[in-house]
Amino acid sequence: MTLARQIQPITETDDQIRAALTDADLPSLLPTLAYITGDMSVLREDLRIDPALQAEEQGGLTPDQQAAIREIALTALARFRDEGRTTVNDDGDLQIIVEFMAGGVPMDDYMAMLREELALHGDDLRAPQWRKDEIAPDRDFRVAIVGCGMSGIIAAYRLKQAGVPYVIFDKNTEVGGTWMENTYPGCRVDIPNHYYSYSFAQRDDWPQFYSPQPELHRYFRQCVDEFGIRDHIRLETEVSSIEYDDDSGTWTLCLNGPGGESTYTAHAVISAVGQLNRPQYPSIEGRESFAGAAFHSARWDHGVDLTGKRIAVVGTGCSAAQFTPIIADQAASVEIFQRTPNWMFPAPTYHDDVPAGFQWLLGHVPAYREWYRFWLFYRTAETLRPIAEVDPNWPNQERSVSELNDAMREILTEALTVQYPERPDLLEKVLPQYPPASKRIIVDNGVWAKTLHRDHVQLTTTHIDKIVPEGIVTVDGVLHEVDVIIYGTGFQPSKFLTPMKVVGRHGVDLHERWNGDARAYLGTTVPGFPNFFVLYGPNTNIVVNGSIIWFSECEVRYMTDLLRATLEGGHRGLDCREDVHDAYNAEVDAENLRMVWGVSTVNSWYKNANGRVAQNWPFPLLEFWKRTKAVDESDYVPV
Ligand code: NAP
Repeated sequence: MTLARQIQPITETDDQIRAALTDADLPSLLPTLAYITGDMSVLREDLRIDPALQAEEQGGLTPDQQAAIREIALTALARFRDEGRTTVNDDGDLQIIVEFMAGGVPMDDYMAMLREELALHGDDLRAPQWRKDEIAPDRDFRVAIVGCGMSGIIAAYRLKQAGVPYVIFDKNTEVGGTWMENTYPGCRVDIPNHYYSYSFAQRDDWPQFYSPQPELHRYFRQCVDEFGIRDHIRLETEVSSIEYDDDSGTWTLCLNGPGGESTYTAHAVISAVGQLNRPQYPSIEGRESFAGAAFHSARWDHGVDLTGKRIAVVGTGCSAAQFTPIIADQAASVEIFQRTPNWMFPAPTYHDDVPAGFQWLLGHVPAYREWYRFWLFYRTAETLRPIAEVDPNWPNQERSVSELNDAMREILTEALTVQYPERPDLLEKVLPQYPPASKRIIVDNGVWAKTLHRDHVQLTTTHIDKIVPEGIVTVDGVLHEVDVIIYGTGFQPSKFLTPMKVVGRHGVDLHERWNGDARAYLGTTVPGFPNFFVLYGPNTNIVVNGSIIWFSECEVRYMTDLLRATLEGGHRGLDCREDVHDAYNAEVDAENLRMVWGVSTVNSWYKNANGRVAQNWPFPLLEFWKRTKAVDESDYVPV
């Protein structure tokens, strides 16, 4: 893998190109050809996708349409080869191409956002357009970043681009955050990784559509190296507290690293500690009394040999859905303790290698990787959000919350039903009763149903009463004897930034301020905490649409713009106005109550102990993009 991979010249025969085209992604291919040839005539009306079918394989294009697109592509690529073209014609009208790809949907409002996301020619349109040495050359100003996962890496890179000194502290032995910590068998990304990657560091040679954890971890390590930020990282260094000094306007971080305890003083601090990294062990009576091995999915104990063991899996969320099918191959028996079933979304290519022909095309057709990534972004961005919107007049809201949501329920129900033709008993257990998108929908290629059908695998829905040395006792008094218990019981996302202590102006403790109900302005800034920024903070998670990388790129742009405003204005720091923060949060809360995850009574990690949705962004992505594109300085007061 190299991020700066060059497009290779085409030397293959027509037959070889034709063979490669059988593996092509077609909804993004005609846009690519129009873009690189400037020939808009290839964008034929009769070859446009139908927006209503875009979630289907090949965007719902019929076999005839697919064949016609392949013929057009063959002609264009052969010409590319024969004319020896090394440069591309990109004068074509981008909006015409984008709207064609979208099936004719007008894109006026979205073009600026989409142009960034496309990142054609490797353009990095979200990079800071300023440098510290131009706006505040003599000012001593250092930034501390806490956490070197996906968000911390972007923050560091942006600061580097702006010429702002920075240091990153990370408690782990290597960078990568969640992609370093989660090493459980079967761990892989659950949105396509051609899209789950930085817009400014795209990769065309992903080996799989949904790569396993080691590949993702490799990508982030490589980004760190290629961005040239590794020398600024201090690993195995945990930040225990961050405290603001009202007199100097600086932040002091207490560190615990290889050399013992120390402090570091910075003028701004970025928390990039993530939401899903502190394991949640269930509070089940007797949990500590279990005599066998027990561990959490995010702290997988690779020292425990699972071969021939009787294993209990507690939880059936995204993590358990990935590791259970793998461990079932080794175990003598697997008993899965399910509290709530999950909706599952069919993804036939979930475990597949990217076929050779498609790999070849991505490596030989200029801009194809950008348009393919963009197509993945587009089809999973705003167009999915409406299924989560609540129609207050829709009856039986416990089942579905709108006509669209109900249609999704039908599709997902059918997808589950066909997998259990002879096991109505199992189907009854796995079919959720709550509306789709109230909880994260699990991506699945049928492997979960296959696992449940295995003779030595049992799905238990009777609730757990307690744990004893021999195993798990359910509320019906039955003892389920096991050798190993694996907790796929998730994380503590509502406890943002814990266990760090953060003290802002006038000695205010952030956790006391939040009191278990974390809020921030644009998920990023908190009144009373000037020059303190949170990435993947409150209400910046998404459920059905978008990717967290996209959010982090937007948040980091906003944060760096705040630093620009601070330095340019000669301010010590900028503090978010309380009224702005409150009004914003009221808007977010109201909108979350219009979304299925806000009204559904099913338990999910999206709600905190107060029942408030503290995780999710409820508006369209465009709204977040607009609000974070540039700082409105009137939202802040200098300190
Ligand atoms: P999770 O979705 O929170 O699932 C936790 C599971 O444990 C649920 O089934 C939950 O049941 C169950 N559980 C919790 N306490 C229990 C108890 N006392 N008794 C019985 N069952 C109990 O956690 P996760 O699977 O680790 O996923 C968390 C999030 O991480 C996901 O939503 C996703 O955003 C992310 N993730 C992503 C990937 C990926 O991209 N590849 C993979 C893994 C995770 P209830 O449903 O009844 O609460």
